[in-house]
Amino acid sequence: MIFSENSDQAVVYLRKAVPKMMQHNIIPNPFNFTLWYAYYSKRFPNLNDELDSVIDDFGTCPANISEKLFLKYIIDSDAEIDSIKELFQQSVVNIVDNLAESIDQTSRQSQNFSAALNQSIVSLADSELGPEVSGLLNKISASASGLCDLNTAFQGEMSEAQQEIQSLKKQLVESQLQANTDSLTGLNNRRVFDALFRQLLEADNQSEISLIMMDIDKFKVFNDTHGHLMGDQVLKFVGKLLKAECPAPIVPVRFGGEEFALLCPGMDLDKTREVAEDLRTKLSRIGLSNKRTGEKLPPVTASFGISISRSNEMLHHLIERADQALYTAKENGRNRVHVAL
Ligand code: GH3
Ligand code: MG
Ligand code: MG
Repeated sequence: MIFSENSDQAVVYLRKAVPKMMQHNIIPNPFNFTLWYAYYSKRFPNLNDELDSVIDDFGTCPANISEKLFLKYIIDSDAEIDSIKELFQQSVVNIVDNLAESIDQTSRQSQNFSAALNQSIVSLADSELGPEVSGLLNKISASASGLCDLNTAFQGEMSEAQQEIQSLKKQLVESQLQANTDSLTGLNNRRVFDALFRQLLEADNQSEISLIMMDIDKFKVFNDTHGHLMGDQVLKFVGKLLKAECPAPIVPVRFGGEEFALLCPGMDLDKTREVAEDLRTKLSRIGLSNKRTGEKLPPVTASFGISISRSNEMLHHLIERADQALYTAKENGRNRVHVAL
């Protein structure tokens, strides 16, 4: 694991990263946040060299450069280290969470302390005391008030910092969501599909996992006849249909192009076939039309291939068998469901 630091160490990096970003007027967005965290963790020595020279040249880190560095060091890598990056991003979210929680706790504790101190002074003032003790008490009271004022100011600063942290956290979560979502259809993308399959295998390799591969029929002809933009509308529509018709535990994803995959954990063959048949019928019966011209469009159909995992089967074998079944469905005339042997 590349980022193996514990939570205390991670907080140290975070506490260095934020002031550094402020010092150089670097926008605290997820790109920069991650870059400067990585800088203090010294995990990518070349990144540190590049960041140092960018700061030397510009006095700050311009947005286009941080985006480029983020892509180069954090995103641009092969699938093998994808999971490491995910861990890294998750660990940043966790650190921010921990920090927010500890700030909140400190704030509550010091508030209680101030209240208790004030209360004790009020009780003392109520009792009969000699002039010497009274004088002393006045002094303590003045110091306590000063302390309370300082405490209130500090709390204000802490709550501002906390808001900033919350907004950073929100941005981080949003960037994670973006990385997992297909922008056209809003469905999960292939990354999620691979990660989920790995999780399912790790959690329990006994229960069945079935897979439905779905591919729109003759979509090239559709695009050629009605235009690529209309084609995009159809893909969006299919995305909506899959979201509406695939209740948990089914996870629909856009696999690529006009191909979709539905991961169905713990679902037997009959149920899986039923889901695919249902989707096939619903799609073929929907009357689509061009909103601008009112022109009615020909029915859009899709073919489906199904495979069910054998124990401990690798994902690419499961996909291969579903693909074979899909190919057979196409060969047999399209707009149909075929199950792999
Ligand atoms: P088949 O029934 O054998 O699947 O035929 P097909 O035409 O659907 O398959 P083919 O692989 O020949 O063509 C796929 C088409 O899908 C071509 C490509 O332009 C279109 N396509 C892929 N991604 C998108 C997209 O994001 N938007 C649009 N509009 N079209 C896309
Ligand atoms: Mg197709
Ligand atoms: Mg295809």
